[in-house]
Amino acid sequence: MTTSPIQQPKASHFINGRYVEDSDGAALNSTYPATGEVIAELHSATPSIVDQALAAADAARAGWAAMTGSERGRILRRAAEIIRTRNHELSVMETYDTGKPLQETLIADAASGADCLEYFGSIAAGLTGEHIQLGADFAYTIREPLGVCVGLGAWNYPTQIACWKAAPALACGNTMVFKPSETTPLGALKLAEILSEAGLPDGVFNVVQGYGDVGAALVEDKRVAKVSLTGSVPTGRKVYAAAAAGMKHVTMELGGKSPLIIFDDASIEDAISAAINGNFYSSGQICSNGTRVFVQKGILPHFLARLKTRTERAVIGDPMDETTNFGPMVSQGQLDITLRYIEKGIEEGATLITGGKAHEMGGLYIEPTVFSDVTDDMAIAREEIFGPVMSVLPFETEEEVMARANDTEFGLAAGVFTSDLTRAHRVVKGFEAGTCWINAYNLTPIEMPFGGVKASGVGRENAHAAIEHYSEVKSVYVGLSPVEAAF
Ligand code: NDP
Repeated sequence: MTTSPIQQPKASHFINGRYVEDSDGAALNSTYPATGEVIAELHSATPSIVDQALAAADAARAGWAAMTGSERGRILRRAAEIIRTRNHELSVMETYDTGKPLQETLIADAASGADCLEYFGSIAAGLTGEHIQLGADFAYTIREPLGVCVGLGAWNYPTQIACWKAAPALACGNTMVFKPSETTPLGALKLAEILSEAGLPDGVFNVVQGYGDVGAALVEDKRVAKVSLTGSVPTGRKVYAAAAAGMKHVTMELGGKSPLIIFDDASIEDAISAAINGNFYSSGQICSNGTRVFVQKGILPHFLARLKTRTERAVIGDPMDETTNFGPMVSQGQLDITLRYIEKGIEEGATLITGGKAHEMGGLYIEPTVFSDVTDDMAIAREEIFGPVMSVLPFETEEEVMARANDTEFGLAAGVFTSDLTRAHRVVKGFEAGTCWINAYNLTPIEMPFGGVKASGVGRENAHAAIEHYSEVKSVYVGLSPVEAAF
């Protein structure tokens, strides 16, 4: 018996406009990370379910692509409105699925999904080709959908990730089969339900549950034209390789170990706020987090003292209490990984400023942790932890810190705090990262492209940039002159 307010979904999968079950699939449960309570009992997709979903997406392709952009956009915007109206209920569900505090989910999850549906719903009507005059002849281009797209999601922002993939794909006239992370199966199902309620034709957006093997089966299927993954770099390498075998389009939103550089002329309180947001929001489970905080030597003692004081003010507790601003980790696995990295940091000689252990509340709670005296070669400075562990690294000069900031296989994001605007732009120009912030951190409005370089990814989500990754251009040359031939 569950005591949570979350209703068990009608079935595990949503295919062709309705809930579908196949209880032969392996058990796949969603648990509330704060208590361990099972809130939904589902099944992983069987090969038959995978086939049904792809067949539905394939069959819906022509009809959806034939609709005008305005018609498609209207449905997406209607879905955005439904999400906004039901934001509280959806946020409660997201909190139960992920453990993230309601204080966060009320503003960052379904709400950002609605922004995304509204944005792509608004630009769908304006997606056109171009006219190219060629003397007496001319050419034009037609922007065409790719076909059936597969979306694979991570567990940290289940609803937002589903929207970030579905909205641009659907706006361009594609159909989609989306597989959420096995850890957080609920948000994508709700999105499918809401899109259907908004008038989306059956089969255009389908959701199947499953573990990595289900994701792999989707990626390998011949009916699939494009794969968009949000996940770790190791999974990204596998999915990219499988997609390449079928010459499929990809978008890869992968992990990071992003630098946040704080110069001595910065507003220190703002920089600390950014470091806190960029390390402890969602209990540190955010891909773009600025987990390597480089602080110029002159301000280091003051910075660390204020950072410690402010970090220790975190309100850790029941995620459903709206005063809580730091919740549990999503799973035992993620908690164990994080605790192991903390131990490694101590072993390697970093200085623990605050936190450093599982929280006295027990369960999946952990203390927000700050290390200083971190050196570039330590594991906590090189590897993505995906937990609330901040590494503070001192630096002296701009030249030195830029080389150190870029000395990583990752390139998802980077930030700089300084009051010298010339320096800020110079630093940003030098970052090897896809998404950068000046005197801000981790803000990802839908209007701004988001994505990584180097091992952190391929392609961009959000903004007009996403359109390029969910459509292709057909060129048409129109001859109006006599055709000449050599013989
Ligand atoms: P994973 O890489 O473990 O999984 C991502 C998704 O891929 C899941 O749905 C997973 O299924 C699926 N999957 C796993 N193996 C395969 C395979 N061989 N073929 C196809 N699909 C597969 O990531 P996590 O869920 O653990 O999420 C954390 C990671 O995501 C971090 O590295 C983080 O940085 C990154 N991330 C990146 C973001 C970005 O935008 N750049 C945003 C958010 C997170 P299952 O879970 O069922 O195994």
